Amino acid sequence: MMSTTSPLPIRIGISRCLLGEKVRYDGGHKRDSFLADTLGRHVEWVPVCPEVEAGLGTPREAMRLVGQPEAPRLLTVTSGLDHTHMMERFSHHRVRELKTLDLSGYVFKQGSPSCGVERVRIYHEQGMPTRNGVGLFARIFQERFPLVPVEEEGRLADPSLRDNFLERVFSYARWREWQRHRPTRRGLAVFHTAHKFLLLAHSRPHYEQLGRLVGNAKRYRPTDLTQAYGRLFMEALRVKTTVRKHANVLQHMVGFFKSRLSAAEREEWQEVLHDYHRGLTPLIVPLTLVKHYVRRLEIRYLADQVYLSPHPKELMLRNH
Ligand code: SF4
Repeated sequence: MMSTTSPLPIRIGISRCLLGEKVRYDGGHKRDSFLADTLGRHVEWVPVCPEVEAGLGTPREAMRLVGQPEAPRLLTVTSGLDHTHMMERFSHHRVRELKTLDLSGYVFKQGSPSCGVERVRIYHEQGMPTRNGVGLFARIFQERFPLVPVEEEGRLADPSLRDNFLERVFSYARWREWQRHRPTRRGLAVFHTAHKFLLLAHSRPHYEQLGRLVGNAKRYRPTDLTQAYGRLFMEALRVKTTVRKHANVLQHMVGFFKSRLSAAEREEWQEVLHDYHRGLTPLIVPLTLVKHYVRRLEIRYLADQVYLSPHPKELMLRNH
């Protein structure tokens, strides 16, 4: 049996201003109550403000990205001071420090020339700014930790993006936890089995490809196998789930015990699934019913499935 919760604290990096600290260029903050109050009860935040930590004070002159999207410069808006080199040097140093904390995710402040993950404004000598930049610190972080899930606070207001991000965070934490405990080929097979339905809810092709890796494990050197599995596993979870995929997964699970349900229970199940399919109820409704049957009928194989309880229920995910 595989533990579905990580005994180590789940650490997530975060742009410091999102926790309410007054570190913005204008002396203000951008506190996000979901992050600070709700998610903060389940994870350990690792706050970083690249601009303040790099030595720029608060308040300070605002900055912006200027030049080419692949290598923009970080300039102050009015006086044109170039902080690119200083910020890059600081960022490389800071990500080396962050490595020791084994982050399971990062929430960045959107739009910032230091922290924005996408669509950051890039200014040009002539013409209108384009929205195709990445903040300097966010870019260096992602280059150093390509598998760590990252998201911007603005996108987390969308329930499905929030659900997906947190699913990836908690999954990455489980993956890292598994790696810490002297991974074996047999252990990888157990990990893969426990994630079967979660993976199927995202991408059947990825699930099958991962299955082939596990099935042919002896052909790979252990480190190559672990690296390949981790990369593909995190890639799979980035594929969007849909109502249809969830409905298929749920129906598949019920197939394991349907013959043990009474006629009335079977009818109830079909109604609940049908309502979910039509968008009348959130995923949590059929999921709770499946969990109830799995517990009552003691279906051991399904009880170990991460799909049935992937993250703390207080986060109210899968309720939308
Ligand atoms: S966006 Fe980033 S650099 Fe700007 S104040 Fe927030 S943490 Fe600091």
